[in-house]
This record gives sequence, structure tokens and C-alpha cells, in this order.
Amino acid sequence: RTADLTGLPTGIPEALHDEGIEELYPPQAEAVEAGLTDGESLVAAVPTASGKTLVAELAMLSSVARGVPEPRSDGSGELPSGSTGGKALYIVPLRALASEKKAEFERWEEYGIDVGVSTGNYESSGEWLSSRDIIVATSEKVDSLVRNNAAWLEQLTCVVSDEVHLVDDRHRGPTLEVTLAKLRRLNPDLQVVALSATVGNAGEVADWLDAELVHSDWRPIDLKMGVHYGNAISFDDGSQREVPVGRGERQAPALVADALDGDDDDDQGSSLVFVNSRRNAESAARRMADVTEQYITGDERGELAQLAAEIRDVSDTETSEDLAKAVAKGAAFHHAGLASEHRTLVEDAFRDRLIKCICATPTLAAGVNTPSRRVIIRDWQRYDGDYGGMKPLDVLEVHQMMGRAGRPGLDPYGEAVLLANDADTRDELFERYIWAEAEDVRSKLAAEPALRTHLLATVASGFAHTREGLLEFLDQTLYATQTDDPERLGRVTDRVLDYLEVNGFIEFEGERIQATPVGHTVSRLYLDPMSAAEIIDGLEWGAKHRSEKLRALAGETPEKPKQRTDADADDAPGGFQRASEMVSTGDGGGSDDGADDSGSGDGADNGTDDEFETDQTYPTPLGLYHLVCRTPDMYQLYLKSGDRETYTELCYEREPEFLGRVPTEYEDVAFEDWLSALKTAKLLEDWVGEVDEDRITERYGVGPGDIRGKVDTAEWLLGAAERLASELDLDSVYAVREAKKRVEYGVREELLNLAGVRGVGRKRARRLFEAGVETRSDLREADKSRILAALRGRRKTAENILEAAGRKDPSMDDIDESDAPEDAVP
Ligand code: ADP
Repeated sequence: RTADLTGLPTGIPEALHDEGIEELYPPQAEAVEAGLTDGESLVAAVPTASGKTLVAELAMLSSVARGVPEPRSDGSGELPSGSTGGKALYIVPLRALASEKKAEFERWEEYGIDVGVSTGNYESSGEWLSSRDIIVATSEKVDSLVRNNAAWLEQLTCVVSDEVHLVDDRHRGPTLEVTLAKLRRLNPDLQVVALSATVGNAGEVADWLDAELVHSDWRPIDLKMGVHYGNAISFDDGSQREVPVGRGERQAPALVADALDGDDDDDQGSSLVFVNSRRNAESAARRMADVTEQYITGDERGELAQLAAEIRDVSDTETSEDLAKAVAKGAAFHHAGLASEHRTLVEDAFRDRLIKCICATPTLAAGVNTPSRRVIIRDWQRYDGDYGGMKPLDVLEVHQMMGRAGRPGLDPYGEAVLLANDADTRDELFERYIWAEAEDVRSKLAAEPALRTHLLATVASGFAHTREGLLEFLDQTLYATQTDDPERLGRVTDRVLDYLEVNGFIEFEGERIQATPVGHTVSRLYLDPMSAAEIIDGLEWGAKHRSEKLRALAGETPEKPKQRTDADADDAPGGFQRASEMVSTGDGGGSDDGADDSGSGDGADNGTDDEFETDQTYPTPLGLYHLVCRTPDMYQLYLKSGDRETYTELCYEREPEFLGRVPTEYEDVAFEDWLSALKTAKLLEDWVGEVDEDRITERYGVGPGDIRGKVDTAEWLLGAAERLASELDLDSVYAVREAKKRVEYGVREELLNLAGVRGVGRKRARRLFEAGVETRSDLREADKSRILAALRGRRKTAENILEAAGRKDPSMDDIDESDAPEDAVP
């Protein structure tokens, strides 16, 4: 019984009881018996939705309550306020989950537990977190905290790794693996609690972490797994359910309708439909909406219309419109291309049973708590580029999707259904997924890109100083536990050390290895050393060819050049300006002839040549965007049919702007990569040329969430490039900073000053600018009716913006937008 739990902060057992958690679920009880609340390390490999979060909470709360046995290392002897000493870290697999978990843990704040979340900004040690008892962060963030020597990491007493089976992930697994190894090395007594889906080799994972193991198939609500074929679902328990599919009808909509029909009024059940691509999620949602529409009540119709309006408010893109249309009828789609506000709205409405069906890509299965009466796995294969064709999903993935079936307290049981077109496929699906065990978790650490990053970081942050020391450190990883070729790690390590030395990131002094200053910077910036090498090479190449390229650009400059703006006047990033290079333009706005390039057309096409003098910026934004887009840290856009021609042409047109030698068309792969990077760079150029998001999504075949993703990554990489340029004393540092700021705000240069004001954004900045309000100081001084008119009469917005700009009296009471002079209305 939860009321009998010991070792937790006062009041918590009672609070759990009041929440309706009166008894521990069996795997939870097993975990407590294994010593969870006494500081014992533990691997809990249990199915989705069987209460792993509570296992984590019990460990973290008891660890905080128990505190640290030794005096604190800072010698102060003082405990942080609100806590009794211990400190727990909860590592989430996705950034989107961090705030969700934080919100969940914040209910313990009334018992004196302070909760913090650490996301974004890789290059900081997050000192403020040292006053928190529970900290939530992604594995990448934790890794970067280690690199930045965050002192509070040494005070950790408990670390929870959520979805630890993701150490198997080719791209992100190694970071988690190395991070856990480092945290354990920093704190030999650290309690490690690893939460995992039911995998084949949970025992091996437990061995690696020196942890107890709780391995269980127990679920709080029964799960029936089956395959629909013909006119019925056959379940694993031998039962059948008739779900006839009419002529010309499809299986999935029939199954969604069947779940909604239920057996009586209370039995209306929602469905989650998993498909293999974003486009399929969208088209399936359109079809399902026609089904769900028939089941919504009059009240629900009103609520759904309101929700649809909220969705349209988030952004005015086609995706937003499509989503709103489906939602109005009770269905939705969900994929990684959605804006996070969209995702939250959809998830909440599904939990409230307002949305009856979600068509999702598998991202939803990974962690977001959206249980559903019925789970339909429509596509069990998906296109895999590395594999070169359609590839069946992993058993683990399918099991995680299936685990979303059944809402405790609402459904008698959950149903997970795969779809087959013929009897053979039905039998195959039973074999492949229903009777099958999930795969083993295998370390991916020995892959070179992973080792490149992690070996540099390990040397830079002082975890090892020699080849032997590195290998000894690597011996604490899952890879070492698993490999039957211990020599391999040694061989790859040597290759990687060579690479790092040749590129100037580390140096040898006899046996001793140490990071160079640039190597330290690269590690702290959280860059793949290969990205850093590419950026450094590109910038140095640019410095060398500067005058020659400027001359070439003089003839055919495609973008109207400007020296610089006063964008940095109000919030100059501190630290490394060299006074000799500061170009002062006062607070007068970046452009005194902005009329030339007004409007929000395509930045690349409407420049004028005639004004070109020596004030051409070099490197150009496109050159810089291309540079960061060709690093391995940027996920490039794919070239679709026809793109090769388009971008080859563009490649020749813009040749003088590239920072580096353009590969020839005969260098097949390199040229193709160059063009993909160019396509991605062009998206960024459109973004900073103020092209509408909607047009960008159309032009590049991406979702609004993808634009955000590219923009965020570019901003981070350009920030890193700025640091490297300054460290290497390159003149390009200002061009880089300006290119970064333009990406951050999505604006042309002349709007940089305005767009930096909180609440303004790219569209409003343009409207204000067109109305003659061109700078932050204009916001403080201009006629209020003019500002209000430019902001389309939105008083509250106008007041917030004026306040953010530092206007003494931001109030808009009694101001009438119609008093504005005519030229104020663009
Ligand atoms: P998992 O992380 O394993 O997917 P969750 O931790 O999200 O699952 O738990 C699923 C649901 O079960 C949550 O709503 C949680 O509040 C509830 N729950 C967890 N443990 C118990 C318990 N012992 N008794 C009742 N409900 C519980």
C-alpha cells in the first residue's frame, strides 16, 4: 500500500493515496522490494502504461529525502533551500517530453521539492539548477552540462533514464550511453534507475549499470492483440470480433467506426491509427474525419469548432488549416512536423474524449501519454533510406504502439489491431509481432561519428588523458559489456584520435592527450568535430579568397548588399566584440533607403545591382547558410525529382557565394550532398527574405515544424560559427552574427532591430516598418495611433510590445487607430 511506504518526504504517501494511487502495481512493488527507495540501482523493463513514472518518482523523492551521506564538496555544509539534500536528474528522450514531465513532478512542490527543467542553450552550465531537487533534461543537454563542468552534477544522488532502450538508436543512443557512464564516474554511489520497454536483453542492460532488474509483462489493463482480415479481427486469446468491411470500403475506417459504435452508449471508444508517413497521417485523418463526424453530439460540435479556431490561431499554414478541418469533425493527425502548440491541443482533446481518432506517425508512441480504446497499426512497414526500400518496423516499436491501447478506468480492455489483406499476411503478422519478443538492445557506440564527438568531449572535460585512459573509460559502456571483438573499439579509437589531431582539436605530448583551445570550444559548443572542421575550413577559405570573390560578386550580386544594421544595439551578445571592428550606425535603423526592397517577396530575386560598391557583405548569408547546412549536424532536405536541375542551375548562379570549392558534377555523391545543402540553405534564405511560411512549406514540401527545426539548428550552428570565427580572429564574425540574427527572427536586415523586441515577430515587424515605425526607439516615441493601426488595432498586443520596447506609458486606452495618418496603414 502506498500509505505504508517509508523513506519518502513527509506527506507524499498520503498525497499518492489521495490521488487514487492506493496500491502499488506489481512491478512497482517488486521495484520497492528490490531496494528502489533505499538507493538501489534498478532497471525496470515493463510494458508501456504500467506505471514506470511512479517508479522514477519513488526513487527520486526518496533520494532527495535521504540526502547525501558526506558533507557537501563545497564545504558550506548548507543545504539548498527547500530540500533536505539529495538531488535527482530525470533524463527524457525527447525535448517535447521535458516540460510534460516537469509539470507532472511539480505537484510535489507543495512538499518542498523544487523542480527545474533544462533545455536549449547547450553552452551553459545552468548554475541556477543547483538549487533544484529534481531536474528534467534531455540526454544531449546532460551531456553538454558535463562538458561545461556544471558543478552541481557532482551533487546528484539519483539519475533516472527514461526509455533507456534508446541507447540502441543509431543517432542519439551513444550520447545517452556515454552520459550515463560519465555521471556514474562523477558519482560512484549514484543510484541509476533505468526505465525500459520490455526488451529481449534487459538483463544485459542491468549488468552494465550494476543494477537490480525488474522484468515484467504485467499491464494495468488487459491488452488483446489481433489482426483484422476479411470481416473480423482474430485476437491472440482465440476470440474473434466481427468487423465487416463493405465493398470499396477500407479496413481502418471500418475499425474506427466499430470502436465508436461500441456495445452500449458508455462504451464509445477512441482509436489511434498508426501510419508510416506524415502525408499518410494527414490523408488518413481526412478520411477518418468523415467517420467520426457521424458520432459527435451537438455540444461536441461547438467545442470542436472552438478547438479548430484555436488551431488556426497557432499559424496560418496549410497544415494548420488541414488540421483544423479534421478537428472540426472529431479527428486529427499527429506527427513531428506539427507545431508543438498543435500537438498539445490535439493530445489534450483526445484525452478529454473530444477528438475520437488520431492518425499518427510512430513518434506519438514514444512517450506521450495518450491511451486509446483501440490502436490500429495500419502500416507495419516504412521506407528506410539506408535500407533502400520498405522495411518492417521493429517488434519493440510495434509493441510500444500497441501498449497505447486501453484507458485504465474507462475501457474494459484495450485492443491493438494489425491489418492484413490476405491469410498469409495475417499469419505472418501473428508470428512477427504478436507472438514475438522484442529485439535486444545493442550499443551503437563504436560508430565513428559517435566516437568522434564523445572522445573529444571525454578528453576535453578531463575524464581521460591517455589512450589507455580513454579505453578504460569506454570499458564502462554498454558497448564494452556487449562486444565480442574488444579490439575493434581500440582500432576505431585510434582512427578517431588521428582525425581529431589532424584537424587541430587535440594534441599529443608523449602519451598525454589534451584538447587544444579550439578543441575545447568545439566540445563545449556541442558540435560534431566534423561540423566544426567544415565550418573552420569554410571560413578560412572565405578569408583567403575574399577579394577575388568580392570582385566576382560585384558583377552579378543577386542580393542587394548592405553594410550592417544596428541590430545589436539593444542586446549585443557579450564577450568577444573587438572594438576595432565595431561599426557604429547609432540608433537610426539599418536602412535609409528601405523602399528599394520593400514587400516580402523572394529575397534572392528582387535585388538591384546598381548600388554595388565595396560595401558588399562577405561572406553572404547564403554562403554561410550553405556552410552550416553541409555539416553533419544539419539534417538536409531531400532532393525531389526535378530538384537536381533546379539546384544545379542555382549552384552555378550563386557560385561566388559558396565558402569552399564546389564539387564537380562528376563527383557524384559530393555534388548531390552539395545540392541538398543548397536546397536547405535556400529555404533559410527564403525564411530571412520574409517569404510566408505557407509558401515555404509548399515550395520545399515540408511542414511548419520542419521550418522551425531547420531554423533552430541553423541558429545554433551559426552561433557556433560565430564563436569559432572570433576564436580564430576571422573578420567574418560580424557577417556570421548578422546571418544568425536574421535566421533567429526570420527577417531582412532592416527589421533586425524591431524584431528583437519581445512580442513583435517577423510579420508585425514588417507591418510596423512599412508604417514608418522602424526601430525600437521609434516604438518608444512614435504616435500611438500609428502603432496601433500597424498592429491592426490589437490593443493588448500593442501595449505589450510598447512595454517590451521600454516605453514609459504603454497604455493604449483612449487611442484610436483611425486617428492614424494615412501613410500608417500599409
Ligand atoms: P508508463 O510510463 O509506464 O508508460 P505511466 O507512468 O504514464 O506509464 O502510468 C500510466 C498511468 O497509470 C498514469 O496515469 C499513472 O497515474 C497511473 N498509475 C501509475 N501507478 C499507479 C498505481 N499504482 N495505481 C493506480 N494508477 C497508477
